[in-house]
Amino acid sequence: MSIAENLEEVERRITAAAERSGRSREDITLVAVTKTHPPQMMNEAIRLGVTDIGENKPQEVRDKFAEVLPVKWHLIGHLQTNKVKYVIDKVCLIHSVDSIKLMDEIERQAQKHNLDMDILIQVNISGEESKSGIVKEQLEELLIHAGTLSRVKVKGLMTVAPKTDNPVTNILHFDNIRQLFIDIQQKKYDNVSMVYLSMGMSGDFETAIECGANMVRVGSAIFGERDYSQK
Ligand SMILES: *Cc1c(COP(=O)(O)O)cnc(C)c1O
Repeated sequence: MSIAENLEEVERRITAAAERSGRSREDITLVAVTKTHPPQMMNEAIRLGVTDIGENKPQEVRDKFAEVLPVKWHLIGHLQTNKVKYVIDKVCLIHSVDSIKLMDEIERQAQKHNLDMDILIQVNISGEESKSGIVKEQLEELLIHAGTLSRVKVKGLMTVAPKTDNPVTNILHFDNIRQLFIDIQQKKYDNVSMVYLSMGMSGDFETAIECGANMVRVGSAIFGERDYSQK
């Protein structure tokens, strides 16, 4: 299958899932995940209408940036504080913020570059030890800390659900984070607005949308399996 065919199919499935949850295609942002893939493949997707791309390594953003057509970049993978400088002036949204230390470094770099930086807090909703992200008990501390910052803007939550062959098993996790999203919205923290709920990947994006996601991160369903052997 070509990227064009895959993308068409993903688009069709997003539209159908949005409609099943009483929304429309425009309410959902598709972040096409391009990690390990070369700029030429990314440009092909952009020419086909992709507006948002996601990378999980800051070095990949830095290295590919000049060769990719204008598009919105998202940093979706784990970010070490010493690598914030690679992405601060390139990405529109950092999905993977999981510590006060990282928030502070993003604030520092944003001030230095005189820009505002939108972030999501990554929540480890399943409690799996291997997953990054904070556990929900730590959320309040980060949200309160956001009130002390001027350049970092908290715009929502992100989660990576456990890998599964049966997306139905992730409904509970998706529902839990959706509930947190609503609770935070109602509590009104300074400098925090719940705009984006980033959840759902190739294996479970339709389920995530049905559970309230408005941003999905889809890689292999568009670009095929990733080849890590050359890395
Ligand atoms: C790789 C990745 C994705 C996309 O995964 P696919 O299963 O290929 O769709 C989504 N989110 C994060 C954080 C990733 O690292």
